Amino acid sequence: MSLNHESLPEPNAAGELFVDFANTLEYDRGEAIDSVPEPDALLTWLRERDLISDRGRATESARLRRDPQEAARRLERFGHLRQLLHDVAESVGRSGHPSKRQVRELNHILRHGLHYHELRLDSDGTRYAFAQVGDRLDQARATIASSLAHFLADDDASRLRACANPACRLVFVDHSPTGRRRWCDMRTCGNQAKVARHRARARESAEHG
Ligand SMILES: [Zn+2]
Repeated sequence: MSLNHESLPEPNAAGELFVDFANTLEYDRGEAIDSVPEPDALLTWLRERDLISDRGRATESARLRRDPQEAARRLERFGHLRQLLHDVAESVGRSGHPSKRQVRELNHILRHGLHYHELRLDSDGTRYAFAQVGDRLDQARATIASSLAHFLADDDASRLRACANPACRLVFVDHSPTGRRRWCDMRTCGNQAKVARHRARARESAEHG
C-alpha cells in the first residue's frame, strides 16, 4: 500500500456533496447531459471540491492518459456511484429508505476509503491531519459516498428526492417546511406538471364533452 501525504481536508459529511455529484448527470427533457464525461473533466470536478490535490490531479491525469483501459475503468467506478446516488434518491422518495442492496453497495465503496489521523510537524508547528491509505481516486469516491451515508444516518433522510418530472430526475433534498416537495423547482418542473395535467383535463373534457 502506498501512503499519500497530501494536504486534503478531513473527509467528512461535506454537506450535500453527494447531491452535487449525482447531478453531474442531468437530464434536459429526458436527454442525458454528463458534465464529467472524460477523466480530465472528472479530475477537475474532484479538484474543485478539494477531493484531490493539485499534484494528485496532475499525476492521475498523466496516468490515465497513458492507460485508456484504466481510465475507462475509473470512469465506470464513478459512474456506478452516481447511478447508486440516483437509485437511493428514488428509493428514499418512494419508501423512505434505501434498499438492502443499495446499502451493501454503498458500504463496498466506503471500504475503499480508508484513512487515519496523524500529527505533522511543519515549519510553523504541529498540525493534526489525516492521511489516506492507498488510492486517491477510490478515496475521493468514498468521500462522496460518505456524504450520502452521513446524510442518511444523521439528517432527515426521508427528505431525499429525485425530481418527479421523469424528463428531469434531478436529485435534491427537500428543505421545505412541510417536506412534501416533489419537484426540483416548482417554477420549471412543477409548473410543467401542472400544465400537463391541465392539458390532459382539457383534452378529456373535449373528448367527452
Ligand atoms: Zn426537475
